[in-house]
Amino acid sequence: LAYLDYNATAPTRPEALAATLSAMRTVGNASSTHRSGRDASSRVDLARRQIADLLNCSHGEIVFTSGATEANNLALRAAFATGGKIVTGRAEHPAVLETAKALTAENSGSLILLPVDEDGLVDMEAFHAALATNEVAIVSLMAANNETGVLTDLAPIVEAAHELGALVHTDATQIVGRLPIDLAETDVDLLSLSAHKFGGPQGVGALFVRRGISLPYRPLLFGGGQERGWRAGTLNVAGIAGAGAAAEAARKALPAEAAHIAQLRDVLEASLVEQAGDCRINGALSQRLPGVTSITFHGAPADAVLAAMPDVAASEGSACSSGAPSPSHVLLAMGRSREEADSTVRFSLGYATTSHDIDRAVVSAVRAVRQVRTALAVPL
Ligand code: PMP
Repeated sequence: LAYLDYNATAPTRPEALAATLSAMRTVGNASSTHRSGRDASSRVDLARRQIADLLNCSHGEIVFTSGATEANNLALRAAFATGGKIVTGRAEHPAVLETAKALTAENSGSLILLPVDEDGLVDMEAFHAALATNEVAIVSLMAANNETGVLTDLAPIVEAAHELGALVHTDATQIVGRLPIDLAETDVDLLSLSAHKFGGPQGVGALFVRRGISLPYRPLLFGGGQERGWRAGTLNVAGIAGAGAAAEAARKALPAEAAHIAQLRDVLEASLVEQAGDCRINGALSQRLPGVTSITFHGAPADAVLAAMPDVAASEGSACSSGAPSPSHVLLAMGRSREEADSTVRFSLGYATTSHDIDRAVVSAVRAVRQVRTALAVPL
């Protein structure tokens, strides 16, 4: 199987597997003061430093969570605890969009959804207009889109938001470990990540909370006060250890890995465009993640195309919300028709992708698209 679905989840890095197994072989609650507890907490401390090194922040700014979904919920809830407005984008992941909708509905706050253009970029005029309405508690815009890989230029967003006293959160789930991130340079207040996107275990993530920011703050989980009160519950030591090891491996491999992945992606795109014909790469004119291709094969519904290439793991729009046969809200926000959205396949590459995977994917996808188009062609 050519696994080209890294945006859904990446294969576990061997370093992560080793760290997780090693932690699982030992007993210890990271909150206990005896030697076993100290062993567990030192694994967590190491992982906290490894994650912080990947982001170039301080280890005291990392709060471990069960993933990016929880980190996004926590960030928005903490910033919105005293109400106001939430500004976010139409192409955000549901873990931000649905949270923002729920929080503003519960507290009769207001939600401003920024449009994106046909290249997937946030409409900056709408952003400035939204900020000017005042009382914005938080701006939440993703660093990289999970369906198209389109990157958001956060610097001007952070600058304008901070001038008006609004906090900035970014869902960086898809960029962490794939492109360098420097939190000393990018002045966001809150950032979410999920370990399984860069080769760590599923069910582990983190929220970066910049030291010194003033936040109304309300945790999602109350209890034993772990993670400095941010997230109660016994720490998932084995998962966290794996997340840390994956972060270190990803940091060491960057940026050579990113350049290699981009090269493979470019070959994939050029071959598909040439051989399948009548297609469009979504977000092609924007800065994108190195490993993502969102491609619309006109006249070939993606569910049929995917079913016709069982030796390739790719996805229809996004796997995160799969199950529901609704068209991709990201592509609709970019102005695509429902038919175009339904004819779009996402290939996402990562650290272990080989040129053999790409060759295989091209052969299978081209054959599948031709087959589906032929089957659907109206006989003359
Ligand atoms: N945000 C983005 C941009 C994502 O791609 C995902 C995973 N699909 C999430 C948040 C949620 O991550 P998790 O499922 O690990 O909580």
